[in-house]
Amino acid sequence: MTLQEIEVPVLVVGGGGCGLASSLFLSRQGVTSLLIERHPAPGRLPKARYISQRTMELLRQFEVADRVYERSMPLEHISHIRWCTTLAGDGELDRRTFYRIESFGGGSLAHYAKDSPCESTLFPQVRMEPLLRELASAQKQAQVLYNHQLVSFEQDEGGVTAVVQDRATEKEIRVRARYLIGADGGKTVGPAVGVKIEGQTDLAHMVTVYFRADLSKYWDDDYSMTTWFVNPEGGSWASGVLGQLGPTKFGRHSEEWMFHFSFRPDDPSRFEEASLLPRMRELLKIPDLQPDIIGIGHWTVEGVLADRYRWGRVLLAGDAAHRHPPTTGLGLNSAIQDAHNLAWKVAAVIKGQAPDSLLDSYEAERRPVAASNVQWALMTFQNHQLTDAGIGLVRGNAEASVANFRRYFADNQEGRTRRARLAQIMEVQRMEWQAHDIELGYHYDIGAVMPDGTPTPERDPLGQTYVPTTRPGHRLPHAWLERNAKKISTLDLVRPGNFVLITGHGKSGWAEAAGALAKTSGVSIDVVEVSDDADVRDIDRNWRNLREVSADGAILVRPDQHVGWRSMGRRGDPRAVLAAALGRILRRDLVNAT
Ligand SMILES: Cc1cc2nc3c(=O)[nH]c(=O)nc-3n(C[C@H](O)[C@H](O)[C@H](O)COP(=O)(O)OP(=O)(O)OC[C@H]3O[C@@H](n4cnc5c(N)ncnc54)[C@H](O)[C@@H]3O)c2cc1C
Repeated sequence: MTLQEIEVPVLVVGGGGCGLASSLFLSRQGVTSLLIERHPAPGRLPKARYISQRTMELLRQFEVADRVYERSMPLEHISHIRWCTTLAGDGELDRRTFYRIESFGGGSLAHYAKDSPCESTLFPQVRMEPLLRELASAQKQAQVLYNHQLVSFEQDEGGVTAVVQDRATEKEIRVRARYLIGADGGKTVGPAVGVKIEGQTDLAHMVTVYFRADLSKYWDDDYSMTTWFVNPEGGSWASGVLGQLGPTKFGRHSEEWMFHFSFRPDDPSRFEEASLLPRMRELLKIPDLQPDIIGIGHWTVEGVLADRYRWGRVLLAGDAAHRHPPTTGLGLNSAIQDAHNLAWKVAAVIKGQAPDSLLDSYEAERRPVAASNVQWALMTFQNHQLTDAGIGLVRGNAEASVANFRRYFADNQEGRTRRARLAQIMEVQRMEWQAHDIELGYHYDIGAVMPDGTPTPERDPLGQTYVPTTRPGHRLPHAWLERNAKKISTLDLVRPGNFVLITGHGKSGWAEAAGALAKTSGVSIDVVEVSDDADVRDIDRNWRNLREVSADGAILVRPDQHVGWRSMGRRGDPRAVLAAALGRILRRDLVNAT
């Protein structure tokens, strides 16, 4: 038997959101890859549902966003989170709402719309992965093999040699690749290279039941994405969290739901399917609930980070590199953002536009973001203890909790005080669902950027207020512009795989410098003049207010929509200045090459 051999520039291990996005992003930047996924089909559990504005911006750049919006839940239906006593029941304390807060840019959170061309949305992983699989497989540069698993690999100076098993035939394939992206959730690649995963583990032992049921009699709010229950016996994680999933009807008429609840780690019944339905009925207070159970998943809450993201030719991304509590929904979102950051760099290296050392900037940029996300998610996970206390839960003392719940809802001065106290506490709990700056404001101080000497701006410690800036390392701020009578975002100026130089007028010399540099460097640089006299016009003067540089200045944006360099005005010889900047970003000497 001859061993099948495949030679490919990039081997992507794992067909979750991170691996599939990597495959798609690489293909669209002209890089051939092979993706292997050990399961025969995409995952069967909804897991991630919330897709942030930033992730939607990345998907918009790769023409995926409209496909998601066609099938995802409109923002209005995910615009609240609420805390209730129970879903059903007709007792004095049943079906009472403790509190409701706005979330993810819905309701009155109008500033979200100002800062991005994209709305956040709800699109469960169980639908996202098949869509990404379809799109990734349709690219001529990509081979996507399900039911294939990585068995082993070794690397040398020139690349990685991997053994992949076709699980249907048990035949082995030898794959030779220049780079291996480990997007396997941490199962195989990280342990093989000796990664150290550090942080907090086993913070809660959770079960998720994914089911179909008509809950319209009970779920009386069309705008809440999620309802946290707080019953007198347990806090919000133990009492259960119910979330709607659509897919064709939303709000109370949602056809599918997911219900998460925790078990004590020493409770053996958490793995007994027969015990889950009675528990669900009890927690929801619907004794005759007959759900059509689609899937059951077990997971633990943890906050962990890999000590390194790169081992020579091997790069870790997504859950393989960091895992967080699901609070704020940073997991899949940041996994796709890792893929986006890595793909343009791998493409530049494979195409010979940058040396291999450009890939060091991936860890330098993404690991600090993940470190901060892990801490953020751990903190927002802990916030639930504050909320439970504010509601009046006394752990282990149901009688005292019930008395407090009654006092909370009482129509008297004490009730008003308790409700006002919870409202104050919810000012903190907002962190989890209004983390606008965590989602849009992450930036890279060290990496593939040319700093301009301006200090790192202070960020809102509660993660809510995002301040747009064109400072190198930050995401290009969004402003609506007009091109050929069509409204476009500044972010739309950045085409996959291309740098873009944004200038204020045609006489500044930057455009000619960029044209010459593109020729000598082989790097694609689009030049866009945004002015009243140009094709791209700043119709409502938003860009003028955001760009921070003068009309004589220029902003060089990387293919991932992060600013790589800027010049406040005209400076010296534009050719030399721009060559120094691009050279610094790509780790090449472009000054002497011009
Ligand atoms: C209940 C829950 C709710 C969540 N909610 C959100 C949310 O709202 N928003 C959000 O952003 N995140 C959320 N997350 C987190 C999110 O699900 C993960 O962060 C995300 O799945 C990470 O994607 P990934 O592609 O990196 O890894 P994974 O999804 O784990 O994919 C890794 C893939 O690699 C494959 N694989 C493993 N080993 C091999 C091998 N040897 N060979 C081939 N293939 C292999 C696996 O089969 C798997 O398909 C949630 C998670 C949970 C559990």
